Amino acid sequence: MTAFIEAASPHVMNTYGRVPIALERGQGCRVWDVNGKEYLDALGGIAVNTLGHNHPKLVPALQHQLTQLIHTSNYYHVPGQETLAQMLVERSLMTNVFFCSTGLEANEAAIKIARKYGVDQGIARPEIVVFDYAFHGRSIATMTATSNPKVREGFGPLLDGFIRVAPNDYAALLAATEGNANITAVMLEPIQGEGGLHPMRADYLQQVRALCDARGWLLILDEVQTGMGRTGKWFAHQWAGIVPDVMTLAKGLGSGVPVGAVLAHGKAATVLQPGNHGSTFGGNPLAMRAGIETIRIMEEDGLLAHTSAVGEYLRAALREQLGSMDGVLDIRGQGLMIGVELSKPCGQLIGQAAEAGLLLSVTADTVIRLVPPLILSTAEADELVAKLKPLVQAVLAA
Ligand SMILES: *Cc1c(COP(=O)(O)O)cnc(C)c1O
Repeated sequence: MTAFIEAASPHVMNTYGRVPIALERGQGCRVWDVNGKEYLDALGGIAVNTLGHNHPKLVPALQHQLTQLIHTSNYYHVPGQETLAQMLVERSLMTNVFFCSTGLEANEAAIKIARKYGVDQGIARPEIVVFDYAFHGRSIATMTATSNPKVREGFGPLLDGFIRVAPNDYAALLAATEGNANITAVMLEPIQGEGGLHPMRADYLQQVRALCDARGWLLILDEVQTGMGRTGKWFAHQWAGIVPDVMTLAKGLGSGVPVGAVLAHGKAATVLQPGNHGSTFGGNPLAMRAGIETIRIMEEDGLLAHTSAVGEYLRAALREQLGSMDGVLDIRGQGLMIGVELSKPCGQLIGQAAEAGLLLSVTADTVIRLVPPLILSTAEADELVAKLKPLVQAVLAA
């Protein structure tokens, strides 16, 4: 541990069990710590650094924006909001966008839409269906919607108005909602990220879509982690050929600059009216520029197709090198959102991998999560697997 870290620790609230390294700079999919040690970044700031670090097209655009305006106020029009909103709706079949700064804020706005949508129809106590293993954030409302008891413990009383069901089980959804006239929305992640990288099946998503249509419920998709090309399409639900009523985005949207968004269309698009919702930072000129340039560069550089291809390549390499090990239960995911499930808890891998020059995370205790920048090359994918293999062998042998 360096003196820097010991000196820095006492005054920062102790909310993270941090790995004892301090990162200083990055280039592409690599970062260096304060001691000059190099790491391959397979975490991408938790699916945030879409374009990697110090991207040669993104950085000059942001530098230029800094000389124009960083922040104004939503008292006035922000032209970048119109531009980014148009770029997002063109790629999603949504029609209207509200900008905020984080994932939980986007989900708060979605929950408010679901509630007011019900109240506007005379439902005094609207209820939202959420799922086992779901993660939607750490505010009081989004924490209530989250399933992990560790996230919620100690922060009660939680909110009313959420019903929890098992994912990928249509019969359970029908049973849990039967005869309940208070339900106004179903909220889910197309691939559950924090909860252990569990994909919702395409046929299940289609059934949920049809049920929402039949019952007049809003389908809210939390694409905070799965969106913005992470799975090889702009939005993960596009793999299932469905369209949500409300979709939330954040993480990868600004390539590291905090940007969140809630997108809506149809009856959900006009629920929020002046005075109903707002955000001081949301949609500021710097954040909008980051979102606009992220999409522009992704398209210019063909990153959707690249993400699909290199994701496929990485999963194949993982299957070849790790797939036959006793204790590797599953290798799954889509695009560059990949989970390697082990037969035992492996949280210690985060620190061990860092020691070996690799940044990754572990979710749900037993699932190694790889969410690198979407610019990852096949050579870097090979390097990732070569670094990961002995670490997994050691964990399984211990
Ligand atoms: C990370 C995440 C959130 C919370 O985002 P924050 O920006 O940390 O508030 C919400 N939903 C999903 C699916 C996420 O992965």
